[in-house]
Amino acid sequence: MASVAYYYQNENNAEDEQVDRDSNNSSPEPQECNSPERILMLDPSEHFRPELSMNTYGKGVEEFRKYSEEEEDYIQRRVKRTYYQMHKNQTVRFVRSRINKWTKFNHAHLTIMEALVKLNSLIDESDPDSDLPNIVHAFQTAERIRATHPDQDWFHLTGLIHDLGKVMALWGEEQWAVVGDTYPVGCQFGQSIVYRESSFDGNPDLIDPRYNSKYGIYKPNCGLDNVLFSWGHDEYMALVLQNHPTCTLPAEAIRIIRLHSFYPWHTGGDYMHLCNKDDLETLDLIREFNKFDLYTKSAPVPDIEALMPYYQGLIDKYIPGKLRW
Ligand code: FE
Ligand code: FE
Repeated sequence: MASVAYYYQNENNAEDEQVDRDSNNSSPEPQECNSPERILMLDPSEHFRPELSMNTYGKGVEEFRKYSEEEEDYIQRRVKRTYYQMHKNQTVRFVRSRINKWTKFNHAHLTIMEALVKLNSLIDESDPDSDLPNIVHAFQTAERIRATHPDQDWFHLTGLIHDLGKVMALWGEEQWAVVGDTYPVGCQFGQSIVYRESSFDGNPDLIDPRYNSKYGIYKPNCGLDNVLFSWGHDEYMALVLQNHPTCTLPAEAIRIIRLHSFYPWHTGGDYMHLCNKDDLETLDLIREFNKFDLYTKSAPVPDIEALMPYYQGLIDKYIPGKLRW
């Protein structure tokens, strides 16, 4: 992708470490103590949707918990805290430091299936009674796509791997830099971003004239490939795949993975002024994907063992070998 030009503007490791220290000082509440074997993870993107348009996706809006300014329970507080930390700390400088750090790809050497198994350590915190590991969500998403689009095997595999970038959490990344809705940095923050009114307070980019105008560092219709996004599992997984020499997934698959949490665009309708023709042509496909990604409690838990051979075949076809993470 063309965004490489933005990615490598910060090669300064000392600055990265300073960004780490700055961002670690930001949490007003103590962090949960995660054991390396079992990490509680809550991805608000998949569980908490304020958009009424979700009704049009064939699921009742009541199936998705709403964002709330009222801190009525632990999960609501956790969602709000994740977004406030994200919006305060994800600056242009922070994002460049994270790209710099994670595109060294020096954390592990794993096949897709090995990385999927690692997702078993990430437990979905929003439903603590069920203790569902993230790998279940991977197979559920893939199987729902397969049922609706049986002939598009690359799409099934895209569903299976779309959240694999969450493995960053196992190597110490902050959850507010792993999960949640994504949005561009380096220009004005879109009005449809959740908690937009107050959550960006304290973010220095908000008052930086280089970054707070409508276009900021971008040109009109420059294309989303050229846009720097808040750091998270979408961008990371797209970069891991692009770095893998034998990955033959179609370009649409990489775009779906890179943009699937960009709700302020694909659902909120913001940022159209940054899009080019390719982006707009991909929009329907990303919306189609998101129908299958959203969480429903009623979805059956798939028989992962029985499904393994089918998906291993797709991995062998499109993403063989060990990837660098
Ligand atoms: Fe995701
Ligand atoms: Fe997902």
